[in-house]
Amino acid sequence: MSLQLTPEQAGFRDAARAWLADHAPAYDEPDSHLTIFPALTPDEERKKVEASQRWQRLKHDAGFAGIAVPAELGGRGLGLLENLLFNDEESAYRLPLDALSVTMGMVLPTLVRWGTPEQRDRHVPAILAGQEVWCQLFSEPGAGSDLAALSTAAVADGDGWVVRGQKVWTSYARDARYGYLLARTDRDGPKHAGITAFRLDLTDPAVTIRPLRQATGGATFNEVFIDGARVGAADVIGEVGDGWRVAISTLMNERYALDPKVIPVEALTALVRERPRPGAAARLGEVAAAHRVVSAIKLRLLSAARDGLEPGPEGSAAKLVATDAQQVAADLAMELLGPEARTDNRWTAYAIGVPGLRIGGGTDEIMKNVIAQRVLGLPRS
Ligand SMILES: Cc1cc2nc3c(=O)[nH]c(=O)nc-3n(C[C@H](O)[C@H](O)[C@H](O)COP(=O)(O)OP(=O)(O)OC[C@H]3O[C@@H](n4cnc5c(N)ncnc54)[C@H](O)[C@@H]3O)c2cc1C
Repeated sequence: MSLQLTPEQAGFRDAARAWLADHAPAYDEPDSHLTIFPALTPDEERKKVEASQRWQRLKHDAGFAGIAVPAELGGRGLGLLENLLFNDEESAYRLPLDALSVTMGMVLPTLVRWGTPEQRDRHVPAILAGQEVWCQLFSEPGAGSDLAALSTAAVADGDGWVVRGQKVWTSYARDARYGYLLARTDRDGPKHAGITAFRLDLTDPAVTIRPLRQATGGATFNEVFIDGARVGAADVIGEVGDGWRVAISTLMNERYALDPKVIPVEALTALVRERPRPGAAARLGEVAAAHRVVSAIKLRLLSAARDGLEPGPEGSAAKLVATDAQQVAADLAMELLGPEARTDNRWTAYAIGVPGLRIGGGTDEIMKNVIAQRVLGLPRS
């Protein structure tokens, strides 16, 4: 399966491939292909974030950061296709991208599209150069899949707002300087209205960030308590009361996060060869088939980008296929390892991490709802 490209597009991809071949191996973490939620100490986590920032800086200096970001904001000014082609080439390596995934994948496109001139000029070039880490303050104890149920309140006070509430599952909040916050500015009316998106300076003394210890031992997630933080008109991203539209455009970027390489076909093949057992090959085949399906859907996404079309619900289908396959891989690995799983940190950490992938970026059930409604045309339940 391959994608028909113009000579310019193919030239860009080849240049990206050559540059990556020269520079990525120094940052490659070949053993990390099974690592989902690494068990890092705070110091190791800080180093990981710094490695992400250095890699980002290197790409920036070579003209491979912000490929689809306008040149006047420090980007390359090319299209979505070139951006996806670069990401695809980059995913051939195990690079330290995770710590900046929210900043680059969610916050950056949001600021480019909705930010004020001051926000764009100040933050976009800094983000592209790897100088700023942001986190996404969306989920709350009572608002996850049903994000519009959020209750963090921004109450008008003088020329700004005072924010109070609690956010949860905030990835890399302790390493971030700014939060992209959703808060309710109007309690009356339908729940999707009256939400505003803000930039929140996390150094505000009214913000408390507490790590959430994960089953794998690390703590990249956090709870964020906001007890009277001040935000002003300059911090509004988009319009006051229009935060739902801003948030939906942010979440749409998750459609592009599709990567068949997250399905560990090679590592599982090695394990099955090492420990053959009746029925194992068939389940490995299931995992390998899912890898082909996700690759095909990715090709479809790239073709849509090449042809200037909006992707449809295929990203939801691909996420579901990928996480189902990851679950089959994790279960099979645990069965093959048996009691030894207790001493195999790679596969055990993988098996503990997989359920998280079935939640983040939209749960399995929410993906099924999208497919039911948008592919099968079933009514909303
Ligand atoms: C790896 C990871 C990283 C994350 N990073 C961040 C972050 O940086 N910032 C942030 O704000 N949040 C983050 N989150 C939180 C994530 O967005 C939420 O966990 C997710 O939206 C689900 O919300 P919830 O956990 O409240 O579960 P709920 O929405 O309460 O769901 C509970 C169960 O009910 C099911 N369910 C809910 N609604 C429906 C429905 N309509 N139909 C059928 N079933 C339904 C769900 O599928 C699930 O099984 C992260 C989560 C993970 C796992």
